[in-house]
Order: sequence, then structure tokens, then C-alpha cells
Amino acid sequence: MPAGKVVVSTSCSLLHTAVDLQNETKLDSELKSWLAFAAQKVVEVVAIAHALDGKKNEEIFSVNASAQASRRSSSRVHNEAVKKAAGALLGSDHRRATPVGARLDEQQKHLKLPILPTTTIGSFPQTPELRRVRREVKSKKITEEEYNKAIKAEIASVVELQEKLDIDVLVHGEPERNDMVEYFGEQLQGFVFTVNGWVQSYGSRCVKPPIIYGDVSRPNAMTVEWSKYSQSLTARPMKGMLTGPVTILNWSFVRDDQPRSDTCMQIALSIKVEVEDLEAGGIQVIQIDEAALREGLPLRKAEQANYLDWAVHAFRITTSGVKDTTQIHTHMCYSNFNDIIHSIIDMDADVITIENSRSDEKLLSVFKEGVTYAAGIGPGVYDIHSPRIPDTEEMAERIRKMLAVLESKVLWVNPDCGLKTRKYQEVVPALTNMVKAAKILRAELASTK
Ligand code: GLN
Ligand code: ZN
Repeated sequence: MPAGKVVVSTSCSLLHTAVDLQNETKLDSELKSWLAFAAQKVVEVVAIAHALDGKKNEEIFSVNASAQASRRSSSRVHNEAVKKAAGALLGSDHRRATPVGARLDEQQKHLKLPILPTTTIGSFPQTPELRRVRREVKSKKITEEEYNKAIKAEIASVVELQEKLDIDVLVHGEPERNDMVEYFGEQLQGFVFTVNGWVQSYGSRCVKPPIIYGDVSRPNAMTVEWSKYSQSLTARPMKGMLTGPVTILNWSFVRDDQPRSDTCMQIALSIKVEVEDLEAGGIQVIQIDEAALREGLPLRKAEQANYLDWAVHAFRITTSGVKDTTQIHTHMCYSNFNDIIHSIIDMDADVITIENSRSDEKLLSVFKEGVTYAAGIGPGVYDIHSPRIPDTEEMAERIRKMLAVLESKVLWVNPDCGLKTRKYQEVVPALTNMVKAAKILRAELASTK
């Protein structure tokens, strides 16, 4: 082909790539040599085009080749023990030995929950005061000790509020987390963070995803102390709160020198040990959020089954070592999941809470069509994305509709998602009404028995 007819380009738009590696002041030069943001990719495209045109810039190519070689052999990237443990997982299956129905009976003996138990998804409002203490500890304006004291006080007030509202399964409110992926990435080996690596996620929303550059491991427990402290404040069950391996993967920039599924297995192993440490710390209910499982579904139909296979397997790995009496929850953030309902069932969680209220109850149609779901399920009874405060009767009516297709003993009552972006003036009346709605339905169920 004549050279004039060949166009050299990146494989897709640079829209979802960070802008310029030069703006990264906190990454060391070795790590930077392994990365290319949009500005660097454009330089590479030009270098390739020139090379094809007989004007090869030898220096660019040799610097690149030595960067690749150092990455292939670096002990910062490669951890043989992790590779071996994660590699061993791929071929085999992992699941809890007891079927979910029997597990739920065992759990109920300890948890003694009412019918239609109430809970929330994890975060409580991130107030300006909370953001201030997080900012100040980062910039060393306040000490670690002062920070911990402020977080403890926040947890105590969130616990007290939930007891007052008479919620059955409590959360600690996640005040120590700025972001549900970043919080874990910062404590795992194999991750780095940028200072300016913003990319568009949707609409005008931007995110700064972590970069997974090496084998992933968990040097220390990440959430156990906060969960133990939170549980010590209440006699009600407190949910341990983790982000699942698939969501951590899907919301990060993932290394390209091994299949995504290999990286996911490594993350799964780290979360698995965290789950087991929470259990050993006396936490009886553990929620592993897989908010982004559905959004990672490949567009090409032919690739979907394989993705779902390893993604669901990765989730099951995290829970495969717990006792029957430990209740595993998961949460997912999308409404349209009817097409993957069988994969969701295959995750084998004890309870799943999902977005529902904006989907016109499409979700319920799968159950109408006869899909049986033996585990607990909490289709959100109100939309947390809106400041509107839902009234009691509206939520009661939603629960009635769910009861028409789901057995009362599997149904949970909860909002759609976390309450992080809402204000207390909205959250308190909304949850008050939600608990009232659950109580109305409990009374209705008791009177029709
Ligand atoms: N546990 C998280 C929270 O409540 C879940 C957030 C999400 O699903 N996006 O904030
Ligand atoms: Zn959610």
C-alpha cells in the first residue's frame, strides 16, 4: 500500500485516558516510564508514523524498549507468591458447601431478625465537616490521632441514629472512605494513585481511577479495626463493608501485561483474607459491594459468558472460606440486570440489595416470569439520587408489589444505594418513613396469617 494511504492512530478515542503524565508529581520516574497518558500516546503515534515513513527516531524506540524490559523483570511488578496463589484458582471452582436456604436458617438462629428486615447500603452523608478532617489529616494540619477521634465520633453518631430509627442491620457509615475503590487501593500493594489523572466517567462527572501496575496483595487488614469498633457500640448486627474484586478492577486502570481475569483473581484473594479477618473479629454480616459488575459486561455477546464466568467466580472466592453462620451481602448499582439474573444467583450471596426504584420495577418482572431466588433480596424502596423524601405509603405500596412476586421471608427493606451524597435533613425523614413502611407491612402480613 502506498504510504500516503496509511493512517496511524490510537485504537480508540483518548477521552477516557488521563491527560498528561508530566503533571504527575508524586509518581517516581521508573513507574512513569511504564505509563502513557494521552499526551504520551500521541507522541508514540507520531513516532510510529515517522518510523513507517522511514524516519525512525531511534531514541524514542530504545527508551521505550528498555522501559518495557524493566517492567517485565521488576520486583515491584512481579510477586511470585501472589502469582502462584492466584494462578491456582483459575481452573477450579470455589463455593460455600451449604446451600443458601440452609445457611440463612443457621444465620437467623444468631441474628434473630424480624420479617422484612431493614438496612441501608453503607454510606451516610459525607458532611463538609467530614471532608474537612479528611483534607486536614492529608495535609498534616491535624494529627492521625485527632482524625481517628473525629471518625470515631462520626461512627458513634451514625450508630446512635440508626438505633433511634429502629433499623435492624446497621452500618458504620463509611466516614473514613473518600471513595469505595480508592480506600482499598491505597492499602493494597500493586496500586498507585495520580494527582491529576482525571477522566470523564459519564456526563460531567469525572473520576481519578487508581492504576493497577503490579501483582496485588494485602499487607495489612484494611477495615477490621473500624468494623470491630463499630460493632462494639451496638448489640444489633453491624455490617462489615468491603468493595468486591470485580468493582475494584472495573473502576481502575488495569495493567495490560496479563489478562484482566488474572488481576481480578489476585484482588479476590486480598478481599478473601479481609473477609476472613472480619469474621474472626466477630463480624457476623459482611457486605461485599459489586456495584460495577454489570457495567463491565463486554459489549460483544460472544465475550459475555466468559466475563461473567470469571467475575462471578472471583466474587465467590472472596466468600468461600466463611462459616455458614456468617451472612454475606452484596450490593449492585444498576436497575437493568434481568439479562444476567442467573449469574447474580450464581454469586451465591446470602442477601443482595439492588437498585430498583428508578427502573419501573422491571426487576420484578423476572420473578414474575418464574425465576426462583432462594436468597434474601432487597430491591431498593426509594431513590437516593433524588433529594425528594419518599412518603411511607408510597414505600409500603412498593413493598406490597414485591411481596406479590417474592416470598416474604426473603424480602429486605432498604434504599437503592448509599446515602453519601444526601443531606441529613433528607436521610432522617426518608429512613423514618422507610422503617414505618416495613412495620406496616409486617403488621399486614401478621394479620393475614
Ligand atoms: N457501600 C457503598 C455506599 O453505600 C456502595 C456505593 C455504591 O453502590 N456505589 O456508598
Ligand atoms: Zn449502589
